[in-house]
Amino acid sequence: MSDATAIPRPALVDRLPWRRRAARRRVCAEVMDEAACERLHAAKVERIARQLREYSGPGPVSLRKRAVAHQVPKRGDLRRSDDKIDVSDLTAILKIDPERRICVAESGVTFVDLVAATLRHGLVPIVVPELKTITIGGAVAGCSIESMSYRFGGFHDTCLEYEVITATGEVLVCTPENENALIFQMAHGAFGTLGIIARLTFRLIPAKRFVKITYEKHGSYEAYMAAIQRHFEAQDVDFMDGIIHAPDECVLSLGNFVDEAPYTSNYQWVKIYYESTRRRREDYLGTADYFFRYNRGVTNVRPRSLPARILFGRLLDSTRVLQIAEKLNWILPAEQPPITLDVFLPISRAPKFLRWYAEEFGFFPLWCVPYRRVRDYEWIADRWFEGMEDRLFVDLAIYGMRQRGDKNYHRVMEKGLEAHGGIKTLISHNYYEEEEFWTIWNRPNYQAAKARMDPRNLFRDLYTKTCRAARGVR
Ligand SMILES: Cc1cc2nc3c(=O)[nH]c(=O)nc-3n(C[C@H](O)[C@H](O)[C@H](O)COP(=O)(O)OP(=O)(O)OC[C@H]3O[C@@H](n4cnc5c(N)ncnc54)[C@H](O)[C@@H]3O)c2cc1C
Repeated sequence: MSDATAIPRPALVDRLPWRRRAARRRVCAEVMDEAACERLHAAKVERIARQLREYSGPGPVSLRKRAVAHQVPKRGDLRRSDDKIDVSDLTAILKIDPERRICVAESGVTFVDLVAATLRHGLVPIVVPELKTITIGGAVAGCSIESMSYRFGGFHDTCLEYEVITATGEVLVCTPENENALIFQMAHGAFGTLGIIARLTFRLIPAKRFVKITYEKHGSYEAYMAAIQRHFEAQDVDFMDGIIHAPDECVLSLGNFVDEAPYTSNYQWVKIYYESTRRRREDYLGTADYFFRYNRGVTNVRPRSLPARILFGRLLDSTRVLQIAEKLNWILPAEQPPITLDVFLPISRAPKFLRWYAEEFGFFPLWCVPYRRVRDYEWIADRWFEGMEDRLFVDLAIYGMRQRGDKNYHRVMEKGLEAHGGIKTLISHNYYEEEEFWTIWNRPNYQAAKARMDPRNLFRDLYTKTCRAARGVR
């Protein structure tokens, strides 16, 4: 692993004077003193808390954020007609402490802004999800991951403290050690059903100007998983993820920070990153370009054709596609929606699962992100971890598979995961029955946190929000 110390220079475009001024404005502490930043933040929190205290409607309520939501867009999602709690001004980076390598920021800060601000100190967040406008609050609530997850787990696992506003308008400081430790852990994966994360304190890591990626090609699931396990044991690279192009074509992408690069590639316009992993043996990217190399879609880059990408590729990034899908949600299919989802498997069970998957779904490529088992998360049922020896999971993501015939492939996946000891994230279409759901997610912990945070059930409960309301079921 590289010893990353040098401060990376911003990309040329970010050195333009107006881009530099805009970047500074996002970091509150660079335009006013720390106390003034804190006062400004406290006023925003008080406004949101008051909105909740004074809310007398029947609910449920949803958040109005500035950035687009990175949930799979669903026709009929009931959150669109909910009353809104406006959190759109929670977008300031309050403090970057280069000595302690800690950042304090409001929950609506996007990773693209955060990376730009922290890179100026030679630092980056430890887990940077691949899409530019994912926010840090959403990354905790919706379990974001990326290629540093094999060392650090999810973004949540790099966090030290959350300030959370309860549905009754109380403001709590939650850390893994204080009296709100359960709330701290349950805010992860609660999809905003416990309260509003207003401010986060999280760790940063030194970065360099470039990332060098080398590609390892493996011809079977067993060889692929063994290679992932080997790099996990050795902890010998800064980044690890990969693309399973086909059952016999599994590519592992191994990245390291470097100071110098003989050339740099860019995948923000015409070229498609995931396809490049098939052809290339190595590649160099600027550090920010590395983090957002999948920003135009992980394996479902639109438009597909080269001429259309030349014309529209720059415009149609993931943010724009999600914004359009959200606006035109009434044209999304109500029946048999395409499959975009991701699943976690203990690595030892992944080859068998993948053989089942190839037979049932037969859809490739898949994105593969190894993920360290940092802790046995409180929001997952205890029984799920029983007898599990693995210290590493793999997250496998399917983007945009069309369903065939009259099978509900979302449900097929839920059943397949139960049989193979996996779990899915809840960003997609979920069809679990309620009792079944609570055999996988941790009902006692959830109920304890819910009773403290949202006794009026203003935010809906996790099952109702993710398995029913999201699909338009009342
Ligand atoms: C097409 C697609 C591609 C994706 N690709 C990746 C990827 O490459 N890497 C990756 O890690 N993840 C990916 N994801 C998943 C993504 O990380 C999660 O969906 C994440 O939760 C999105 O965060 P967001 O900021 O967009 O929040 P939103 O999508 O707006 O919110 C997610 C959930 O968190 C809640 N929430 C948001 N903000 C707060 C807050 N301040 N306090 C409390 N609750 C809150 C919302 O109510 C919602 O239920 C992808 C998702 C999609 C749909």
